[in-house]
Amino acid sequence: MDFTLPAEDDPRRIEIRSFFEDHPGASYAQLAERGYTAPNWPAPWGISADPETMIVLEQEYARAGIAHPMTFNLIAINQCGQSLLKWGTDDQRKELLPPALRCEARWCMLFSEPSGGSDLAGLRTTARREGDEYVVNGQKIWNSSANIASHGVLLARTDSTAPKHKGLTQFVIDMKTPGVTVRPIVDMSGEESEYCEVFLDEVRIPVSRRLGEEGDGWRITLEQLQTERQSMTKPGAIWGGGPTARELLDGLIATGRIKDPVIRGEAGRLYVEGEMLRLMSARHLSNKINGRPAGPEGSFGKMIASPHGQAISDLAKRSQGPAGMIRNPDVLPLPDKHFGRFSNWDYAYWFAPAGTLGVGTQEILKNAVSERILGLPREDDPDIKLPFDRTRRAAA
Ligand SMILES: Cc1cc2nc3c(=O)[nH]c(=O)nc-3n(C[C@H](O)[C@H](O)[C@H](O)COP(=O)(O)OP(=O)(O)OC[C@H]3O[C@@H](n4cnc5c(N)ncnc54)[C@H](O)[C@@H]3O)c2cc1C
Repeated sequence: MDFTLPAEDDPRRIEIRSFFEDHPGASYAQLAERGYTAPNWPAPWGISADPETMIVLEQEYARAGIAHPMTFNLIAINQCGQSLLKWGTDDQRKELLPPALRCEARWCMLFSEPSGGSDLAGLRTTARREGDEYVVNGQKIWNSSANIASHGVLLARTDSTAPKHKGLTQFVIDMKTPGVTVRPIVDMSGEESEYCEVFLDEVRIPVSRRLGEEGDGWRITLEQLQTERQSMTKPGAIWGGGPTARELLDGLIATGRIKDPVIRGEAGRLYVEGEMLRLMSARHLSNKINGRPAGPEGSFGKMIASPHGQAISDLAKRSQGPAGMIRNPDVLPLPDKHFGRFSNWDYAYWFAPAGTLGVGTQEILKNAVSERILGLPREDDPDIKLPFDRTRRAAA
């Protein structure tokens, strides 16, 4: 991969830089209007940016001190918006994409259920067709941002007589629809900002809000999860976001804690791992820009990125000695840079254990890597070909 980036006088860089100079502190609406929010998307949403322009844009965002809208509205744009581009109707795109790109609409993903998130295809929420509507009943859990989302993508079973992967359909649901109840869950970080339980009681969704055809749900969901896993393959403390091993090293140097040989050794190893993740993320970006769909390599990347994030936030806390055993936001100095929600090591540390569970546990990712990348025999699932209503999951 060629990492020589466009020079300071490259016309693409000059154009992008002059936009940021003309729009200091550009708003999400201005960025969306200009096509800089999802630049690799085609017009009118993006600017069909080539790989180099994408990288230049990222650099110029940083230079202008503006947080990329994706850091604020990743689910809506990266996972759900991307699906609407491919699977949505023109009407859905026209209505739903602009507010998502302007970051006025937040989205959530309603997949996991209390009966188990790993066997996602075994979900029990049903959607039965009644005229121009589907009527949905069931319960979802661990749904990130459901308490602040205006919309969600919902996976439900439309055909219980088909094998479990084939009877699923995806919908765009307005979270204010009667029958939707959202309850935030407080996690061990003490915040209730991450995930929720969502109860669906006779919720009516118009047919016009179905994504793709009936039975396309599994394919669409898999694409969204793979896109999400790719986006998490980065060297930050939490799912690729937040401070990195580089910032950890800088903090350890600034505080003198790097003088401890044990800390120095661990920090060096983590720095190397972070660089490897940075290169992997560049490869994913290149795939994305070149129109290659997200594949199982996202599972591989996330399998490395999540434990890496846990290890760097753990070392940041341990470097404090006994003081690191308590909640204390003053862990290590961080540069004045936008790290989103994870802008301090302490919060990252308390949240990090969830990183190896969400969007596929380590075991599920290992299954994906062994089956889909290494070509090893598939895990035995006696229910896989049975009509869902004859499976053990349906009976439980
Ligand atoms: C921070 C966070 C954010 C999340 N956000 C969302 C969201 O926005 N939307 C959403 O729908 N869900 C979300 N989830 C839920 C997440 O997808 C599930 O927690 C995850 O898929 C695991 O499901 P589970 O918790 O039901 O565990 P289970 O599926 O019950 O698994 C329990 C244990 O068994 C292991 N296991 C299960 N099956 C196998 C197998 N076949 N082989 C080997 N081991 C296995 C698992 O690895 C795990 O250790 C989020 C979770 C977290 C932690």
